[in-house]
Amino acid sequence: MGVNCLRISVTDRCNLRCVYCRPQHDCDFIEREEVLKSDEIHRIVRLFADCGVDRVRLTGGEPLIRKDITSLVTRLAATKGVSELTLTTNGVLLYQMADELKAAGLDRINVSIDSLEASSYKKIAGYDFSSKVVRGIRKAIEVGLEPVKINAVILRGINHSQVVALAAMSIDLPVTVRFIEYCPTSSNTQAAEDYMPYDEIRTIIEDAFGPLCNATIERGNGPALYFRIKNSAGAIGFIAGRSTVFCESCNRLRLTSDGRVKPCLYSPAEYDIRQLIRADAPDEQVRDVLKKIIAGKHAFTRLNSPAQEFSMRKVGG
Ligand code: SAM
Repeated sequence: MGVNCLRISVTDRCNLRCVYCRPQHDCDFIEREEVLKSDEIHRIVRLFADCGVDRVRLTGGEPLIRKDITSLVTRLAATKGVSELTLTTNGVLLYQMADELKAAGLDRINVSIDSLEASSYKKIAGYDFSSKVVRGIRKAIEVGLEPVKINAVILRGINHSQVVALAAMSIDLPVTVRFIEYCPTSSNTQAAEDYMPYDEIRTIIEDAFGPLCNATIERGNGPALYFRIKNSAGAIGFIAGRSTVFCESCNRLRLTSDGRVKPCLYSPAEYDIRQLIRADAPDEQVRDVLKKIIAGKHAFTRLNSPAQEFSMRKVGG
């Protein structure tokens, strides 16, 4: 499969403290001068686009806390060869930023919310912003950052009681609610035993709403499987990154906030592009390295758990 998607962690910082990603005591941030500047991100995207990478997603950390995020969106959206620019956010700042992001050229947005209920949202994220995030989701729909996708990581004993309420959002709203299997990435984060596999989550939904029907989602670039609750406005998705292996169809690369390209989330292999850029390497030289990374991407197959610990916020989930 052609490798045409790039996920960029634009910052490793975040305004939430999700137990599976960035727990309270995790303060190991990348120094500010090591984080890629807007010009550097723009150049890397332009060179990747020359190599056929036409879909770009901004993530983090929390991309909306990066001060120059809107101008970065404007520049990347206007880059020749970029056909789709999207962003993944926790939605805390979305209500006030949705309009400007749309105007800057963002095509659509994914919003993470693991619970609609205050106490389990707070248990996971450290603070309760659940109603703020829901307002942000409605605003994103209103301004046309569509189709809006909602990401939820379900942890046994913490928010599994929210599966039905989250799935029900897809009945009235034109959103796709995607359940992502928890991937333990470090000994620092949530216990691996709290992982809930896709089939268990699906059973909870089918017990509540009846059998799910297959759905075709127009703009899905990734590994999610899509279904629908009968007569619903939206859809349900599952990203079963642990219980299934989809390496052969994986079409994405990741750019870490300090400028390393990671061809596979589960492999420790990474290539330091910032070093090349800061050494003033000419475009042809950087492009050659990017082409080699793309060509070698499918050497990383059939790994479905991390080969070593890593930080999701640096790599870009
Ligand atoms: N701050 C933004 C957000 O919350 O969406 C973007 C970054 S966050 C790392 C991107 C996505 O990765 C979120 O949907 C989050 O739930 C998911 N994620 C983070 N750590 C994860 C893990 N260990 N296993 C599965 N998904 C994870």
